[in-house]
Amino acid sequence: MGVVLGCIADDFTGATDLAGLLARSGVRVSLRMGVPEEAPETADTAAFEVIALKCRTAPKAQAVAETLAALDWLRRAGAERFFWKYCSTFDSTAEGNIGPVAEALMAATGADQTIYCPAFPENGRAIFMGNLFVGELPLAESPMKDHPLTPMRDSNLMRLLAPQVEGKVGLANRLTVARGPESLRARLDALKAEGVVHVVVDAVADEDLGVIAEACHDMTLLTGGSAVAMPLPHIYLREGAITEAAKRAAAPEVGPGNIVLSGSCSAMTRAQVAAYLPNAAGYRLDPLDLAENGPQAARDWLAAQPPEAAKIIYATAEPEAVAKAQEALGVARAGDLVEAALALLAKDALALGVRRFVVAGGETSGAVTKALGVTAMEIGAEIAPGVPWTWCHSGDTRIAMTLKSGNFGSETFFAEALSKLETKQ
Ligand code: ADP
Repeated sequence: MGVVLGCIADDFTGATDLAGLLARSGVRVSLRMGVPEEAPETADTAAFEVIALKCRTAPKAQAVAETLAALDWLRRAGAERFFWKYCSTFDSTAEGNIGPVAEALMAATGADQTIYCPAFPENGRAIFMGNLFVGELPLAESPMKDHPLTPMRDSNLMRLLAPQVEGKVGLANRLTVARGPESLRARLDALKAEGVVHVVVDAVADEDLGVIAEACHDMTLLTGGSAVAMPLPHIYLREGAITEAAKRAAAPEVGPGNIVLSGSCSAMTRAQVAAYLPNAAGYRLDPLDLAENGPQAARDWLAAQPPEAAKIIYATAEPEAVAKAQEALGVARAGDLVEAALALLAKDALALGVRRFVVAGGETSGAVTKALGVTAMEIGAEIAPGVPWTWCHSGDTRIAMTLKSGNFGSETFFAEALSKLETKQ
């Protein structure tokens, strides 16, 4: 089946977030790390394709070139409608890359107008009169004001966007959105007549996102956070743009061998590790020990475990222990040692027959997927909000993997994830 919506995300966790929300509808969604090498004409594509880039803070020309390459792949796969996904806090610098990429995508697709809607009410991101709020705080008063790479010092999306683009910027405000899709469409047409091609759209509640999706689902290019894309599968199904055939098939069979690999030290992950340990064999990785003795002891321990037994290898530690390791080794080296060890152990686990991988930590997930050579994932059922099971291949071997960043999931996440796989969603 051809691609119905081609999505391009400016970072990996943003792509996962978008893919997960689209998949809530039951449609088939596939997530690809970077522009695939495989030709789109022969690739097994889903109705919803999400390409994860890493271009949020890349130089502008590079970000534009990468997104255009992604666009080209998606078009060759049959997509005629596109979604440019960025962060719900509009993470960008004065130069971009949100605006320049949107403008390049518009030029390449012939889109004559697009919308900007990073709102995600469920996660406390709302836009009112063009101003973005994080919880109850304007963006520029939220912790985003001190972000190391993209400090957000203005809350007004029109003012943030205008210097990034050449075309005219305007607003469709909440009063317009509250009156429904017709009203929003009329406002967009009126703005178009005035030559406004970049339209910030207010949204403070989920209903607003429904109205926006309804009014704008036919646009060639939509831009925003993940939430505004969530209603699209239902609308496309209703309109016949996709059929029931776009629904994902039953979860494929994967062998029972399993492992939890945790390199996250976030508070929730610490609680999750503690909750899992009483019922699983556990091995703790210590960066100081890794620096001195390497990962062989961990590898030997893993080799002695039956693949099907519950087990966890974790570097997860309390802040004092992390600080101690970082002091002795440096922050980067401590992190690298842990990531390299977990990546190697993931490969060992695969060779030992493990097929179900639960991975905790954003950076850790990147290291593990890379080590396993995973370049594409089919999104399965959600385990916790924002964390789905995914199906992928490591070489010719089919595996199931869930990637959980920092504070996601409840305390019993690891056991829940693995038991969810047993019940076959
Ligand atoms: P999260 O999603 O919680 O931020 P990440 O995997 O993105 O988790 O980041 C955690 C980082 O901390 C990784 O680079 C990891 O290698 C590093 N790390 C994990 N355990 C330790 C530890 N005990 N000491 C120092 N660094 C650690």
